[in-house]
Amino acid sequence: MSTPQVSVVIPVYNEEQTLPLLFARLYPALDKLGVAYEIIFINDGSRDRSAGLLRRQYEERPDVTRVVLFNGNFGQHMAIMAGFENVRGSRIITLDADLQNPPEEIGNLLAAMDAGHDYVGSIRRQRQDSAFRRYASRAMNWMRERITKIHMTDQGCMLRAYDRAIVDAITSSREINTFIPALAYNYAANPTEIMVAHEERAAGESKYSLYSLLRLNFDLVTGFSIMPLQVFSLIGMTVAVLSVLSYIVVIIERWVHADSLSAGLLALWDRDILQFFLTGLVLFGLGLLGEYIGRIYQQVRSRPRFLIQAILEKPDTSGARLER
Ligand code: UDP
Ligand code: MG
Repeated sequence: MSTPQVSVVIPVYNEEQTLPLLFARLYPALDKLGVAYEIIFINDGSRDRSAGLLRRQYEERPDVTRVVLFNGNFGQHMAIMAGFENVRGSRIITLDADLQNPPEEIGNLLAAMDAGHDYVGSIRRQRQDSAFRRYASRAMNWMRERITKIHMTDQGCMLRAYDRAIVDAITSSREINTFIPALAYNYAANPTEIMVAHEERAAGESKYSLYSLLRLNFDLVTGFSIMPLQVFSLIGMTVAVLSVLSYIVVIIERWVHADSLSAGLLALWDRDILQFFLTGLVLFGLGLLGEYIGRIYQQVRSRPRFLIQAILEKPDTSGARLER
């Protein structure tokens, strides 16, 4: 294997239906580019035949294929992290296995890097997902844009290109539960975004339930900003100030109309509803605090982020990996 210029990193979890279609399109698309490349598949503990299919593909194209086999399911971003730790190329592309990101777009990402960008994000031109996913994701993009310092038009699209320096910075961050495109943004000097096509999943179904999407977004926000905590203390302060003010108003009212004790300002609001609202607010604050404490807890345990069972690859004769 000559030193690859481009490493393509693809996380795979239960994709037996899409892998043959992916192989059929990905290899020709890369061959056409005329650059030395390698493809690193990470099997994220699939319970279907994905690992076997990857093994067979490795045997078919050992010159450009490498396979990292995980010991269990550690999630898409940890799979990409493992891929990053093993890349040999100087430019790294991430791609989903389900062909939602057309491999034919890789050339456009590389062209943007030729123009001097060290991080190329992507925006799905016409997103082919359910209406609910599209709206939810628009709302999350909006919120992330305001809460964190990360500016991405379309955080959900994984078809991205990274300079090797950024990938090395990412792998040396020992963060648990991270969101790789956002982390990369923090390290990029000259990021850009390009429009890419988007397709419906070629086969199989999304690996994300509503709950795991919610978790992912919580991790994104709490992993990159403490603004939710700060906003929360502001809310707490505002509520406290408001209640003192209302108390003063009530006392004055009682003093002026000593006969109608219950007709004070507070009686204008339904006190029970107000109480429920405030209890909800306090519980939300506790939960929010818990999110951060949970992250600290996971971090201090410092367990390995993923476990690798085996790596299928030809020995690296170029020494590219020894450089780090
Ligand atoms: N994936 C993974 N581990 C997981 C979940 C997903 O490696 O725990 C991979 C999956 O095989 C695919 C990519 O991550 O290559 C994106 O997953 P999916 O297409 O299900 O997500 P969606 O497009 O619905 O956001
Ligand atoms: Mg998908």
